[in-house]
Amino acid sequence: MELCSEKKGGYAATLCEHMAAIADVFPTKKSKGIYKHTIVNLMTGESKGTLVKVKQGEHLTEGLVFNYCPFCGGKLRDTSKDGE
Ligand SMILES: [Zn+2]
Repeated sequence: MELCSEKKGGYAATLCEHMAAIADVFPTKKSKGIYKHTIVNLMTGESKGTLVKVKQGEHLTEGLVFNYCPFCGGKLRDTSKDGE
């Protein structure tokens, strides 16, 4: 099975089949669930991968970005630059 993996300096490069199946696109401000967005650097046009976030409860409006996949444990975001 393919696992989720991060893209250097960005978000997910690949999604496992569970996350790919459950993550939806185009949330509204009030929708709950797991969503994915393809992130592109508008300055360079370079793809930064797929951002996966959950929208529920206190995170309903903006969503909470997943660092790790809850299904396969793979990384969904490159955290190596955090705290710099
Ligand atoms: Zn996964």
